[in-house]
Formats: sequence, C-alpha cells, structure tokens
Amino acid sequence: MTLERIVVAGGSIAAVSAAAALRTAGWGGSLVLLSDEHVAPYSRVPLSKGVLAGTQGPESAVLPALPGDVDVRLGNAAVGLRPAAQEVLLADGSRIAYDGLVVATGARARRLSHPQQRGELVVRDLGDAAAIAERLADASSAVVVGGGFLGMEVASTLHRHGIEVTVVDMEPPLQRLLGPWLAGYVARVAEESGIGFVVSEGGVVLEGDPISGVRLSDGRLIAADLVISAVGDIPNAEWLEDSGLTLANGLVVDERCQAAPGIVGAGDVVSREFSPGVFRRTPHWSNAVVQGRAAAATLLNPAAPAYAPDHYFWTEQHGLDIKIAGEPPLLGEPEVLDGDLDGREALLRWTKDDDTAAVVSINYRIPAARLRAMVARAPAAAPASSSR
Ligand SMILES: Cc1cc2nc3c(=O)[nH]c(=O)nc-3n(C[C@H](O)[C@H](O)[C@H](O)COP(=O)(O)OP(=O)(O)OC[C@H]3O[C@@H](n4cnc5c(N)ncnc54)[C@H](O)[C@@H]3O)c2cc1C
Repeated sequence: MTLERIVVAGGSIAAVSAAAALRTAGWGGSLVLLSDEHVAPYSRVPLSKGVLAGTQGPESAVLPALPGDVDVRLGNAAVGLRPAAQEVLLADGSRIAYDGLVVATGARARRLSHPQQRGELVVRDLGDAAAIAERLADASSAVVVGGGFLGMEVASTLHRHGIEVTVVDMEPPLQRLLGPWLAGYVARVAEESGIGFVVSEGGVVLEGDPISGVRLSDGRLIAADLVISAVGDIPNAEWLEDSGLTLANGLVVDERCQAAPGIVGAGDVVSREFSPGVFRRTPHWSNAVVQGRAAAATLLNPAAPAYAPDHYFWTEQHGLDIKIAGEPPLLGEPEVLDGDLDGREALLRWTKDDDTAAVVSINYRIPAARLRAMVARAPAAAPASSSR
C-alpha cells in the first residue's frame, strides 16, 4: 500500500513520538496531527509536580516542536472513524482522508461528582493544573481522593505549599501499584512529612455544591478547601465506537501496535490482551514514547519488529525521586544493592526465580538506561497495567 497521507489523532507524547518517528524514518508524505486541545503538544508529567507547585511555568511543559512540514491542527477533535472510506470525522463537521492512521488520543481523568455538582478538581491537563494553582493562595486544607501515583504526587506538591493534606483511598496508598514493601516505605516517608492517610473501604461520596468535602463509608465527613480526585483515567476511545475496531479498556492493538490494516495505536488509549479476556493499558510516559515509535514503524512496514513494552517509569513525591525498571507490583523484600534506606538514597533489587525482576532507585543517581539493563528478564508477552 502506498502511504501518501498519514493522520495522527492525538496531541501529546504518543502522537508526537509517532509523528517524529515517521519523519526520522525518512517518510516524506503528507502528515497531519489532530489535537482537540487549543495549545501546542505538552507533557503532563510536570502538571502534578513543578507546574502545580508554581516552580515551573506551563511553557516549560511544551514538547519539542515537530518538523515544520507536519501539519499540526489544534482545537478540532476526531469524533468518528470510517475505516472503509479511510476517513476521520472531525468535530467541526469536516472529514480528513488518510492512507495510514495513528490513534493516540490518550485518556482523561475519571470523576466522582454527579454532573450538576461543581468544584471537583482533577489533574490531567494544563487547565486543570491552572485551576488548582489559582486556588492555592486561599486554601489551607485539601483532600486528595486516590492514593495512586498521581494522588500521592499531588498530595506531596500541595503539602510543600503549606496545605494540610489528607489522602483518602479504599486501601493503603500505592499498594496495588508498587506492592506492599515499597508502598509501605513511601507511605511512611509521606506520613513522617505530615500527610494524613484515611482508608474508606467503601469509597467516598463528594459532598456539597460547590464541593466542600468527602463523606467516608463509615459516615464521617472530611471537610476541605480543595477536593481533588485522582481516581484513575478513562481512555479516549469513544470516537471509535462505530468504527468496527475492537475496543476493550481502550483500543485493542496487537504486538506491533496494529488495530487493523493501516491503523495503529499508541499510548494511554491503547490496550493489549494480557491474558484471555483481560485487556490492560500501560499509562506511563516512556511507554507512550516507545509505543508511538513502534506504531509509526508498523505503518511504514507491517512486518516491523514487534514492540517491546518499556517497563520503566518514575514518580517524584515526598522528597523521593523513585525510578522503577521492571514490572510492579514488587513482591517480597528487596536487596539493598547500594546506599541506605534510612538516608533515603538507595538502589534496590527484587528477584524472582533467581532473576532480577525489578530494580528501583530512590534518590540514587543512575541513568535510566542502566536501570533497564539491570533487569535481566525478557519482555513479557503483554504490558502490565497500572494507572496513575
Ligand atoms: C499529572 C500527570 C503526571 C504524570 N506523571 C508521570 C510521571 O512522573 N512518570 C510517568 O511515567 N508518567 C507520568 N504520567 C503519565 C503520562 O503523562 C501519560 O502516560 C502520557 O501523557 C500518555 O501520553 P498519550 O499521548 O498517550 O496520552 P495523553 O497525554 O492523554 O494525550 C492525548 C492527547 O490527545 C488529545 N485528544 C483526546 N481525544 C482526542 C480526539 N478525539 N481528537 C483529537 N485529540 C484528542 C488530548 O487532548 C491529548 O492532547 C503523568 C500523567 C499525568 C496526568
């Protein structure tokens, strides 16, 4: 098939990685990137960290510009797909033809409020971070619902801002994501720094309009100036619903990131079958980069090498810069390869069947490439999933 026009639907790191990879590979056809956002593609990573804290301006999050011959169209969402006609339908009523399509529409924040209720805060895009930043000066307390990576990062940033923070979850923070040992270590450090944790086994209900607190499953109310939900994300795949493509926890792709001939997917919107009937996403930055590049390679050559999931990610919270290579949750206790846990600077290894299953650095200076190289295991057949 001759590829004259490739359309990339999506406006962040997976989309940009795919578009850049197409040009790097020397493909010179018409390349259109469609984003529903009105601003140039940017990274979400600092939104829960420096941008939220106000120590980093929003402009610092902007991704490196694509080559000038990429037609970047902002503020227009893809709302439908007709694979037989090779057309993407757009929110403004127009349509765009393609020979190859990259689906990289990512995910959005899950919310807990009902549609009439105002004031639930989330952290997914620049506008969300700005909305919280605007209220920081007048706020003295916050409840963060959700003790995953995102919730814990937000809690850490708000706390450093002098705000009294309580994290509420149905279980202790980070447990499912990191495993009991590492989750326990991080939670202890967070608690020592002054973060409060509450377990509400039956979940919470957001109270008030505008929202002014959360009701726990035991009936108690925690009032706060800011109520921020960090309760996972929802893949932006609804626009594909009538396309005939397989959707299960996102757009299902194969080991080459292909959803159908001429259609590939990458990043947070994509899922893969982990075990029969179980479809998982890998919503981490490095994975979006690697998958974006692999998706581009498959479009140019459907027999391109299979994508090797990148099991590397990091989080910064409570003074801990944690980098993880391998597949959490990490079971059992780690071996301390170097450093000192009490001093909060250590290199840790988890083993499984005598192989290195994961290596974790905590405030330890080591390049990501070296961490990855230390994980001996071959890549798994499908990526594990862990929500931020
Ligand atoms: C606050 C925050 C902090 C994070 N920190 C870290 C971290 O420290 N480490 C880490 O590994 N990962 C982190 N992540 C996760 C990482 O940012 C994501 O995995 C990554 O952004 C996924 O990239 P993506 O391009 O697939 O999707 P997204 O970033 O979700 O981007 C999708 C893009 O497509 C656009 N779009 C959506 N629907 C449409 C449509 N129908 N038509 C056109 N455009 C559309 C969206 O507006 C958006 O621009 C963080 C995420 C968040 C939210």
